[in-house]
Amino acid sequence: MHWTLECSNCSETRDASGLPTVCPECGDPWLVKYDSYPGPEVKHRLGERPWDMWRYREWMPIQEGEEPVSLGEGMTPLIDVPYLEHELGLSHVWVKDEGQNPCGSFKSRGMSAAVTRAHLAGARAFTVPTAGNAGVSLAAYGRRAGAKVIVFAPETTPARILEQIRLFGAELHLVDGHIGDCGKKARELAQEIGAVDGSTLREPYRIEGKKTMGLELAEQFDWALPDTILYPTGGGTGLIGMWKAFNELRDAGWISGKLPRMYSVQASGCAPVVKAFEQGDERTEVWQEPETIASGLRVPGPLGGKIMLEVLRESGGAAVAVSDEDLDRAAKRLAGEIGVDTCPEGGAAVSALGALVARGDIKKGESTVIFNTGAGWLYR
Ligand SMILES: *Cc1c(COP(=O)(O)O)cnc(C)c1O
Repeated sequence: MHWTLECSNCSETRDASGLPTVCPECGDPWLVKYDSYPGPEVKHRLGERPWDMWRYREWMPIQEGEEPVSLGEGMTPLIDVPYLEHELGLSHVWVKDEGQNPCGSFKSRGMSAAVTRAHLAGARAFTVPTAGNAGVSLAAYGRRAGAKVIVFAPETTPARILEQIRLFGAELHLVDGHIGDCGKKARELAQEIGAVDGSTLREPYRIEGKKTMGLELAEQFDWALPDTILYPTGGGTGLIGMWKAFNELRDAGWISGKLPRMYSVQASGCAPVVKAFEQGDERTEVWQEPETIASGLRVPGPLGGKIMLEVLRESGGAAVAVSDEDLDRAAKRLAGEIGVDTCPEGGAAVSALGALVARGDIKKGESTVIFNTGAGWLYR
């Protein structure tokens, strides 16, 4: 294989064969480390590739001759948002509309990569705890691979999302609790029946799928990135993945100069990353009684808390929380103004942009990309 695994916390490394989970030494996530990257002279060849995230296959955990488990994920549009540019005095505001992915969210990127590797390693069953969309995507990609999928979701998950999980043929268990409670059940089941646990960062490949958001942004901007990126953060795979992409592109000589400042946006009813960032902590602490309508952000104890905090600090960004009322209003306004079907999490990012400009974190004249991480219809 053209990659190995490195612990995100200690100095452990291992080969990538089989079905890796987390570092046995410290329980922290593995990160994929590639032996080498293609040189910038192959940029122009991307145009000949299929129009999905696997066009970046040299940066992905796949070997020559292997076929990904794919439903056409990735390559989502960047849409300009003139009203925010005018109101906030920014040079450019774009929304990257991840709601246009298969299954209606960017979870499909991560699940395509994770299911691909596990399928190639011979997995026959998958399980995942989910705040919603991860369950939909795993259900679909698991079916695509011909495997059994068992999903654990909170009872409070939006009804339409639960319907989609069932539609794709997964076995669905509703849990009286949050995603952390679902995680315990998924881990027990994984041990019992030998299913692959697809939990955020409990396998190393969802990050590699989410990383393609960063690779894609760079290609869409002709290899010159925006000043800032606002990302609604739950488990953190997107934030960690994009920062990994930018650093790998820089190491490979594909981009140069300053990387974007990364801003993590959370809901004020569940904001462990914001709290730890503001307190200067190294790790996040479990948030008690998490509550928000932005179900994807209802992650009280993310396993990748430490890595997220490192990304925010290294990039010169920050973390900010917005209320449910504000994120809901911002989502509806974006939809009404520019026609993008915005999910509550995407609304959080829009709302945070105003807050970050008001407090001086983002300056007049800067450019920014906001992530709309899923489709709004899934929540209605
Ligand atoms: C999962 C999810 C998030 C959080 O994503 P992470 O990359 O795990 O932080 C945000 N928005 C939506 C719609 C989601 O489904």
